[in-house]
Amino acid sequence: MPLPSVAVSQSPEARFREFLTSRPKPQRYTDQQRELVCHIFEKHRHFDTDELLAELKAANRSVSRATVYRTLAKLVEARLLRKIEIGPRTVYDHDYGYPWHEHLVCSNCGAMIEFTHEGIVEAVKGVAAQKQFRVEGYDLVVRGTCAECNAADAAKRRYVM
Ligand SMILES: [Zn+2]
Ligand SMILES: [Zn+2]
Repeated sequence: MPLPSVAVSQSPEARFREFLTSRPKPQRYTDQQRELVCHIFEKHRHFDTDELLAELKAANRSVSRATVYRTLAKLVEARLLRKIEIGPRTVYDHDYGYPWHEHLVCSNCGAMIEFTHEGIVEAVKGVAAQKQFRVEGYDLVVRGTCAECNAADAAKRRYVM
């Protein structure tokens, strides 16, 4: 279940175009990049580079691997996407138009369950203030097993006994 989205004044696509063209050295916004941004922001989900490449291939969208890598880096820089390290895996998540949130990650099925908690935000702010630290961001990843996997595991145990 995605979290409720945050109202933003521009579409992700318009936002990205502005980011590219208003840089000290303006960059071209290519058709391939537009196609990629549209695809990524069609629906909320978490993805890694390989999953994105497979999706693009399945959707018959012709975006080269090099463009995907380069564009993802720029989307993170433009703060449209956030990058989350989960063990050896790098996962991308929407940032623009989406609330800040934390994740419970199932080590069995890979599910990423999103949640927000005011207490966590307050704790981070408090610690940062105490250490005179200017926060740019943080990612809280809680590892474990999800409710479905726990239920399946419990059912399996019952069957064996
Ligand atoms: Zn699971
Ligand atoms: Zn998320």
